[in-house]
Amino acid sequence: MADSNNFQVAIDGPAGSGKSTVAKIIAKRFNLIYVDTGAMYRAVTLYAKMNGIDYENEQEISDRVTFISIKFLPADPVQKVFLNGEDVTEEIRSKEITNNVSLVSSYKKVRDEMTARQREMTSSNGVVMDGRDIGTTVLPQAQVKIFLVASTLTRAQRRFLENKKKGLDQSLSSLEEDIKQRDYKDSHRLISPLKKADDAIELDSSNLTVEQVVDKISSIISRRLKTINQS
Ligand code: C5P
Repeated sequence: MADSNNFQVAIDGPAGSGKSTVAKIIAKRFNLIYVDTGAMYRAVTLYAKMNGIDYENEQEISDRVTFISIKFLPADPVQKVFLNGEDVTEEIRSKEITNNVSLVSSYKKVRDEMTARQREMTSSNGVVMDGRDIGTTVLPQAQVKIFLVASTLTRAQRRFLENKKKGLDQSLSSLEEDIKQRDYKDSHRLISPLKKADDAIELDSSNLTVEQVVDKISSIISRRLKTINQS
């Protein structure tokens, strides 16, 4: 019988497709824990910066990754992220971290460690986990897998509006360029590249509101729960 203790929802997709926004709402609605796996890779990248380690230094980052503590604390409107006890919720979203996280997250040791920690988080709770490789690698057995996409321009426009609210100034065209580069790196790396799982349902959020995306995913989850509970 599926219940909120063992139900897993994987939401993958490229940067800015709306994964985290909808994943948080879905988690509340279905009483599941929300795990933002991108924040974990961002925290490792920030760790390198804070400790003066070159982002290219795979050996040093790999040697240290098991000792890096990353914790989430539920908070409204955004979950807080702690790196070795320090609140880094905002710092992990900086342009420098955003532009280097794809490199750091391509390292095998970093991926193995984060994947193990992500799986561990499902041991006593049902989850909604968002990322790039959740449906393909981290939780291949997830009962619901969504691959959320949106056009590059739409994604850049979303980031532009988010940045504006935060008082950050970056042109739309440069944001679009950054997103394209990150998409390329994330989908061309050797280990666990960004890829739709064969059994994932693809949703294009370009012309949908947040509520519409949430409603579509909620219906998919409800249908799945019904089938599981009937079998
Ligand atoms: O989701 P977000 O944009 O915060 O992710 C930041 C980066 O972390 C991605 O661009 C990707 O390089 C990496 N990532 C990953 N695997 C995940 C989640 C994120 O490689 N499951």
